[in-house]
Amino acid sequence: MIETDYLLIGQGISGSVLAHQLRAMGKRVLVMESPTPASCSRVAAGVYNPISFRRMNNTWRAEEIGPFAIDFYNQQEQQYKIAFHDNIPIHKVLADASERRIWETTVSERPALFAEAAIRENPFPEQIAAPHGLGVVTAAGRIDAAAFIQQTREILVRDNQFLEEVFEVERMMLSDDFVLYDRRIRAQYIISCTGMGVLEEGYFSFVPFIPVRGQVLTLDIPNFKTDVILSRGIYLVPLADGKFLCGSNYDRDVNNEALSDAAQTEILDKLKKFLTTPFSIVSERAGVRPTTRDRRPVLGCHPHHPRLVIFNGMGSKGAMLAPWCGQQLVNHLEQQAPLDREIDIKRFLK
Ligand SMILES: Cc1cc2nc3c(=O)[nH]c(=O)nc-3n(C[C@H](O)[C@H](O)[C@H](O)COP(=O)(O)OP(=O)(O)OC[C@H]3O[C@@H](n4cnc5c(N)ncnc54)[C@H](O)[C@@H]3O)c2cc1C
Repeated sequence: MIETDYLLIGQGISGSVLAHQLRAMGKRVLVMESPTPASCSRVAAGVYNPISFRRMNNTWRAEEIGPFAIDFYNQQEQQYKIAFHDNIPIHKVLADASERRIWETTVSERPALFAEAAIRENPFPEQIAAPHGLGVVTAAGRIDAAAFIQQTREILVRDNQFLEEVFEVERMMLSDDFVLYDRRIRAQYIISCTGMGVLEEGYFSFVPFIPVRGQVLTLDIPNFKTDVILSRGIYLVPLADGKFLCGSNYDRDVNNEALSDAAQTEILDKLKKFLTTPFSIVSERAGVRPTTRDRRPVLGCHPHHPRLVIFNGMGSKGAMLAPWCGQQLVNHLEQQAPLDREIDIKRFLK
């Protein structure tokens, strides 16, 4: 019988972050991931942006959540001598004079915004169309989520904390004090970090998850080099190998990972509004984001099974949300700290 404190199901961004946080508290963890993992975290551009461009304000709790994520990723890199995180600014291509004016006034009126009031002139006139300049978002960046997951997996494998298999809900036995899985694993808690796989588990069917498919392209742009993330409706993210990630789109209520021509067209149409130099598509991939109607994550214990826990609903912001939310969950389980009501699964109970 394998004895563990926490059995985590799913090793996307959420399961990886939580595994690190529990290990840091000296807890025994065992992570179970399917041999054919879902794509969501692995295809994600991994950008964290503390500003909503639509509303020109900081995103939900960005002042707390953003720096927490940056510290968390830096700490993992230092502790394990791994590299997957770039704390680099986003340069927003301002679409017209009105957008430029709004940027300048909003940023100077709200000093807490993670943005610079001074507009940058376009340093790439040959490759980028930005006649109205670039607005700079600070405290932004990117994780290479696929690398983070792979490196985390290697650490877990090394420490005998990883199982490559599909979790099957029928094999789980829940009691008030522990969880048994397949009569061979006994855990204090089981935490479902399964993204859209949650639908297959039944226990959490009262949470109305909304699948939102997204596609991302890898591009070769021979005449262009930058070390910032560009944004205008989509992100253009520089990669270490000189290529770029470009995306994404939002196909609401679509729960499959198939590539779509319409998504590619949508992404390229947005790209061509500011990229004026030739490029080619190297590859493209799609994944399904686990989102909720109120756009908040879903955390906490099952209402009738205190040992069954959920960590999900990261939507389109897993890179930024997962570290702070993970710590909330750990504090809740280990120190009985109350969960913030906005992320507590209890909000879905009638
Ligand atoms: C195209 C695209 C671009 C994105 N870009 C960004 C971005 O730039 N920035 C950002 O922050 N977010 C982005 N996201 C969103 C981000 O990917 C999600 O917020 C995040 O990946 C969710 O992570 P997760 O670990 O909760 O879920 P998932 O990544 O879905 O992980 C769940 C894991 O559970 C496993 N699993 C499920 N069921 C089982 C089972 N029965 N047994 C074993 N394992 C199981 C799956 O294989 C999977 O590995 C993007 C998403 C997409 C699709």
